[in-house]
Amino acid sequence: MSALRYVSTRGAAPELGFGDVLLVGVATDGGLYVPTEVPPLPDGWQDEQPYAELAAAVMWPYVEGTIERTAFDELVADAYRSFEHPDVVPVRRLDDGLYLAELFWGPTLAFKDVALQLVGRLFDHELAKRDERVTVVGATSGDTGSAAIEALRDRAAVDCFILHPHGRVSEVQRRQMTTVLADNVFNLAVDGTFDDCQDLVKAMFADAPFRDRLHLSAVNSINFARVLAQIVYYVTSAAAVRRALGRDAPVTFVVPTGNFGNIYAGHLAHRAGLPVRQLVVASNANDILTRTFTTGTMAQTGVVPTLSPSMDIQVSSNLERLLWELAGGDGEAVDVLLRRFRDEGTVTLDAEQFRALGERYAAYRADDEACLDVMARYHRTHGLLVDPHTAVGLSAAEQHGYGPDRPTIVLATAHPAKFADAVERATGVRPPLPERLADLLERPERYETVANDLAAVQRRVDAGARLGGGAGARATDGHR
Ligand SMILES: *Cc1c(COP(=O)(O)O)cnc(C)c1O
Repeated sequence: MSALRYVSTRGAAPELGFGDVLLVGVATDGGLYVPTEVPPLPDGWQDEQPYAELAAAVMWPYVEGTIERTAFDELVADAYRSFEHPDVVPVRRLDDGLYLAELFWGPTLAFKDVALQLVGRLFDHELAKRDERVTVVGATSGDTGSAAIEALRDRAAVDCFILHPHGRVSEVQRRQMTTVLADNVFNLAVDGTFDDCQDLVKAMFADAPFRDRLHLSAVNSINFARVLAQIVYYVTSAAAVRRALGRDAPVTFVVPTGNFGNIYAGHLAHRAGLPVRQLVVASNANDILTRTFTTGTMAQTGVVPTLSPSMDIQVSSNLERLLWELAGGDGEAVDVLLRRFRDEGTVTLDAEQFRALGERYAAYRADDEACLDVMARYHRTHGLLVDPHTAVGLSAAEQHGYGPDRPTIVLATAHPAKFADAVERATGVRPPLPERLADLLERPERYETVANDLAAVQRRVDAGARLGGGAGARATDGHR
């Protein structure tokens, strides 16, 4: 088979192979890269086998031509060795027809590790092959930063600068970032808010000479490589449930959703041949996706903070990939639609596209109150602690209905200890950190505070990055 090609959802950027898609992230026309076809699942996907082996087989057709098979197999095996559970993504039965797929056994206790642990390794491999290096800069309100840092620590071809708002992330979130003492990791605590951090990162990318000199890069959720790694657990968990049931029932997936990245991977798994009955969007009070999927109109409102902060978004960037498919691959039409959305804050899908969505998707909303109720109930009835994001998913599963004839898998996206305050509020029980993070609160930290000032931040990046003028000056220790 010849190498798979990728095109932009806006239709005006060059077609690329996987290696370029991995490194560029977003397309030059502002679109997102999508594969020109969806390769079928490998034979034997239903059979019991180690996660990493099936993962490599599922992903191989997407990366073939960029990397040697044996090297790829090794990267995949190495990525999933960093997971604490031997199944990598274990499936837990809750009730007749209701299962949890636990995506939180990676180093930072949330599902982003499943993709980033692999993407960090792929980055390093591809850069080494090209004899290039990059400087990754990113802003975080807590979760994404630690997953990126764990993925990029000690990677030879990457320096990593993560900006977080000083004093505005939880202690556990901060420590998951600042206790990583790798020489290529720089934690910058900005005197400002998360929005300030994000604006600083955008401004660094907008400064073309700075961007080009430092080879700025991002590993954000619109990178297709992240979607790719997420296809795998749809396949492994559906296979596990089918084996448990002893029959070929199609399964429903319920996905706590923010940027639509996770559930879009389920969409591709379905298109690759996985027997999926339905994909269920589960939103918190920031329910732009649920409103879009139930009314056909996508309308922006303000973001409100909730107990499930990783889903507090107002624009779901990965939805663009689905819109492209609904538009029959017409990039110009997607461009027109999303420009209108940006200018007017609202667009309505055409009737045919909306009907097509309804065939495969359902969508529900669970506010904080519903979420606390779910956490309390599952603790009472099952002795189970779930995090608030997973609780949004369980609420959606209850609203949608499930049963032995409608097997349903809820994706559990974070470990309860990662959101211990919310879990304790709902259940009265404070979930302990897992063994390997038990001493997190005693570990030494390293971070620097910087002013909310573009020039100051750029000076720090320049001095620290191996591509920068300061040629790799390491941060001073301390700043507790
Ligand atoms: C990022 C995240 C989500 C949302 O995932 P998307 O791919 O943005 O839909 C849900 N739960 C947790 C815990 C997350 O970290």
